[in-house]
Amino acid sequence: MSLLVVCAAVFGSSQTIKPVPPDDRFKTDILVIVAHPDDETAVTGYLAKAIFDQHKRVAVIFGTRGDGGGDAVGKEQAAALGAKREIEARQALGSFDVSHVWFLGGPDTPGQDVLRSLETWNHGAALAQTVRLIRLTRPEIILTWLPDYVAGENHGDHQAAGVIATEAFDLAADPTAFGEQLAAPRNRTNIGNLTEGLEPWQPKKLYFFTDATDPGFQSGKGPRYSTEERSPAKKELYYQLAAHEMSFHLTQDDTGQMALRAIQSGDFTYFKQPVLLILGKSLVGGKVNGDIFEGVTSSPLAFSPVTGYRPSKAPPLSIELGGPWSYYQRFWTAHDLKLLPGLLPENGVEVSAGERIQIPILINNDTESDSVVRILANIPEGWTNLEGPGVYEVPAHQSIPLYVQARVAPAASKERQSLIIKASADGKDLVPVELHVTPTKGSLPQ
Ligand SMILES: [Zn+2]
Repeated sequence: MSLLVVCAAVFGSSQTIKPVPPDDRFKTDILVIVAHPDDETAVTGYLAKAIFDQHKRVAVIFGTRGDGGGDAVGKEQAAALGAKREIEARQALGSFDVSHVWFLGGPDTPGQDVLRSLETWNHGAALAQTVRLIRLTRPEIILTWLPDYVAGENHGDHQAAGVIATEAFDLAADPTAFGEQLAAPRNRTNIGNLTEGLEPWQPKKLYFFTDATDPGFQSGKGPRYSTEERSPAKKELYYQLAAHEMSFHLTQDDTGQMALRAIQSGDFTYFKQPVLLILGKSLVGGKVNGDIFEGVTSSPLAFSPVTGYRPSKAPPLSIELGGPWSYYQRFWTAHDLKLLPGLLPENGVEVSAGERIQIPILINNDTESDSVVRILANIPEGWTNLEGPGVYEVPAHQSIPLYVQARVAPAASKERQSLIIKASADGKDLVPVELHVTPTKGSLPQ
């Protein structure tokens, strides 16, 4: 009988192994998240100061390549136009020393409905990529379009950029969100690593800007940056630097060509308007109107979870504006955007004179029994082809969507008009919904 002796030994180097830090070449101070090539020009009057004189590092994400719209230079359209506009955007931002530029690849979606743009952009994939790029670039500040329905261009793509930026701001530090991006690679210097090795990152502040026609409602809601100061580093006025950046977008008549005309004529009137920002949220305090870097230090922040969606206590039977309007009411609260409810003094839209308008309405029945609700609409003088009003069955604890549709009066009017949707049930009137409509001459995306 033999005795088998098993020897055990502990092996291992006594040398300290240092962690591999994130790639610092990509560290960013300001990440701009927008929809189309040329959207960045909404804030370049401020970025000129941040980049050239404050030495802030800036990166930009575009949701689309801007493959819709006309071509003021050649006849290339659609995907070919998008290919051109990507290069124009890279050249424009290159003139501001910004080379970290990404495109999410969503299609340019003409319209004013954020939910349509989120659908065509493939919302989930666009969000995953935005979270990935926040984890890669580790921004302190995110600047993006206002997620709200405004009277003006109100581009659905702009708002989609704002929605995705807000969601990504709230998710990038969450270790359970897109965990494959955070999982450590088995051997980073070898092939076959199918997880990404990023680290969670919590941005500190979120600011919005808007394409609303009337900027009045922004007063007191965030910082205001003059573009009429001179850059000590560049010896030019900030609006001149912004015009130069814009002048690369030559396929676009209302931006690139306009900027070129301004440079050639010396008339920079359009560019002298200040850059207005709206505070979305700050996790580091600071004044609403304070500088965007107020309170920001180089220390990383821990994950700051948001409230998330909570059903609110609505009247048992009610009507409300549906579609983007009802979505935003819930979105702002879920994402702790405390200034956004009530930011606009009223619900308003701009539409082209003579266009058909389609207004989504929700009838909410939060009672224990089925209900019958009568919908009526008061339309302004000159409007025609009214559809939607009628009598609707609304089961208990359900919401029924409908559209009130009409053709707006053919003449443009500077006067805003009122569309009032009324409802009644069991002989009692519910609180009506009012929408202010301004018919304009120009054509707006529908
Ligand atoms: Zn745009």
